[in-house]
Amino acid sequence: MPARNILVINCGSSSIKFALVNEAHSQFALSGIAERLGHPEALLRWQRGGEQDSLMIPGADHRAALAQLLPLVQGAAGGKLHGIGHRVVHGGERFTRAHRIDAQVLEAIRATAPLAPLHNPANLLGIEAALKLYPTLPQVAVFDTAFHQTLPEHAFRYALPESLYREHGLRRYGFHGTSHRYVSHRAAEMAGLAFGDSSWLSAHLGNGCSTCAIVNGQSRDTSMGLTPLEGLAMGTRSGDVDPNLHAHLNRSLGWSLERIERLLNHESGLLGLSGLSNDMRSLEQARDQGHAGATLAIEVFCYRLAKSLAALSCALPQLDGLIFTGGIGENSPLVRSKTVTHLKLLNLSLDKAANARCIRGVAGAIHTQGHPRVLVVPTNEERQIALDTLTLLDH
Ligand code: ADP
Repeated sequence: MPARNILVINCGSSSIKFALVNEAHSQFALSGIAERLGHPEALLRWQRGGEQDSLMIPGADHRAALAQLLPLVQGAAGGKLHGIGHRVVHGGERFTRAHRIDAQVLEAIRATAPLAPLHNPANLLGIEAALKLYPTLPQVAVFDTAFHQTLPEHAFRYALPESLYREHGLRRYGFHGTSHRYVSHRAAEMAGLAFGDSSWLSAHLGNGCSTCAIVNGQSRDTSMGLTPLEGLAMGTRSGDVDPNLHAHLNRSLGWSLERIERLLNHESGLLGLSGLSNDMRSLEQARDQGHAGATLAIEVFCYRLAKSLAALSCALPQLDGLIFTGGIGENSPLVRSKTVTHLKLLNLSLDKAANARCIRGVAGAIHTQGHPRVLVVPTNEERQIALDTLTLLDH
């Protein structure tokens, strides 16, 4: 059978990221983004081979953008597209794995929207547009939350009255599941261990950041919760704060819920601490020049990351390795080194040269010999979504 092509779509409220994945090749045949959808300046940008190109698509909505994309995809796939894999942020408790999309699955994704009011409706826009444009192609939904449905109840429940869980689904769900699953699987391969018989801590550090404890191929705990705000300090998200903060800001400053939500989601994290940027690259440069805010932001980021990893070690029977991934995890020897320095009690230690070498997509082991494994593993959520889609096409 010739190698098959899957189009992977990640739809936001005003953008569509896409990648054409061929099962036999690690490089994408085509990838890009349609952005500013619904605006006069809507733009489609793509990369094919080494070539980059773009097209203005003024006022295009999701469906119009996908329609523009179709000939590009068919061209890059040699006319042979086998399926579409959609990233869906929230699958609630209903979805423990990827699903072929049919009317029932669509309805269940819609029903989960109250848990992810920003993300699921945007994901649905992409699915509905793709179903109209490619009605005969198999389409699959892959959920960010699904990998974490193996969390034991003592890890996923909040210490809140049970009725809030039973009647309103208030529990910890976790996100970035596709990435944590992909990199822990790859880490086991790199280490020559069976995925189903190994234990990992994983740190996905992008604009959003989360940690995960993976035991025998299953997620056992993770730092994000009901929403992707819980846990680590992130680019613009605060991560954990005292839950009384809302009441305090409301009473003492008269802030509305909307104002507080904006603060915690868009004005905090690295940006809030540094007063400078949410971008780790910029913060590292500013730190080199003695910027106090950038220095503090990096210290807080690494300390809280280490604290989260130490906490998640409670879920492991043993530690076969710590994995760094995401834009920061894959590219920042400084963050990796500062974080590991806080984890001496886990006996972790880095090899300086190996740590410096693993950047810009280079995977590898960065621990000192004789200490527990620390691996840099570039994530590839698009490939994992394509693999999940292919698995369902086979059934
Ligand atoms: P997203 O979550 O949007 O997919 P990424 O995984 O691309 O984000 O990660 C973005 C983060 O990675 C940014 O904070 C960026 O500064 C950081 N990053 C990328 N390259 C480097 C680098 N060379 N050094 C430090 N941080 C980097």
